[in-house]
Amino acid sequence: MASSRRKFLKEATALAGILGIGPLWNRAWSRHRMPALPNANGNAAMVSTWNHGMLANDAGFAALENGGTALDMIEAGARLVEADAEGLSVGIGGLPDRDGHVTLDACIMDHTKNAGSVCFVQGIMHPISLARKVMEETPHVMLAGAGAEQYARELGMEESNLLTEKASLAWEKWKATANYKPVINIENHDTIGLLALDHNGHLAGGCTTSGVAYKMHGRVGDSPIIGAGLYVDGEVGGATATGLGEAVMRTVGSFLVVELMRQGASPQEACYEAVQRIIQSMPTDDLQVGYLALGRDGRCGGHAIHGGFNYAYHHSESFESSVHSKLIDASHGT
Ligand code: ASP
Repeated sequence: MASSRRKFLKEATALAGILGIGPLWNRAWSRHRMPALPNANGNAAMVSTWNHGMLANDAGFAALENGGTALDMIEAGARLVEADAEGLSVGIGGLPDRDGHVTLDACIMDHTKNAGSVCFVQGIMHPISLARKVMEETPHVMLAGAGAEQYARELGMEESNLLTEKASLAWEKWKATANYKPVINIENHDTIGLLALDHNGHLAGGCTTSGVAYKMHGRVGDSPIIGAGLYVDGEVGGATATGLGEAVMRTVGSFLVVELMRQGASPQEACYEAVQRIIQSMPTDDLQVGYLALGRDGRCGGHAIHGGFNYAYHHSESFESSVHSKLIDASHGT
């Protein structure tokens, strides 16, 4: 018995080394693991990236008050931002790729690890709803491009020309130099990632974006990739990412955040650690990534490589009005 335990620990330690998580076992937080308790007090919470997260949370809590679930909160919040033609990075109005096409990515996930995703979708107003249909109505997790669009048409989903005049003018201006260089300002990294906890203690998450501006045609980022742009584990918590998708995908960021929380890290500590993983892996002077996490107890945290990342947090107990979230600046961690 003792020898098989020793063998297990040896193998697990070797595996942890391969996965790069070994040192965590010695961290302080491993001594006070986050308990996988039900949401005993029935509080609900929602966190969403960037300023537009404020309105997204309002829409999410309105859906909750109408009897909705965490999934409904996510879909309602995401749809609101997707429909905003002024926003340059989500849904209609999103900046196009270098050839002038607006291509959208989105995914959604619930507390039971059901997940749905669509990527490289054009002309569809609400990719988050399409992702939810993929999750709930098909045997698949992910549909891409023309196949996803065909499915949206079969469902009778709203279609539209997503390239607005504002985005088209910005693209024309960009074409003067046509220099693709990911930059760390907010305009280019405004994906909305949302995480919600409902009164039943169920978690859900979603992510929707037009991706980085002026990308190559066909490029898909982290946002629709389960484990990269979003991950939810109903026993632990959820995480989502914003920023340069390539860096998030290469470090499987959102899954990492949730796994760190499983080992006892707070949402804040987990986001901080996942950001360090990127910093240790690649040069980060010219790239921004921000993580946002929500524990199943309603606590949240966020952290980014550079300053300028913020998110909106609404908790049913801490905030009396259902229409006001707190905007948190995660520039230096929260
Ligand atoms: N993560 C998105 C992508 O790489 C970009 C963003 O967050 O705005 O496509």
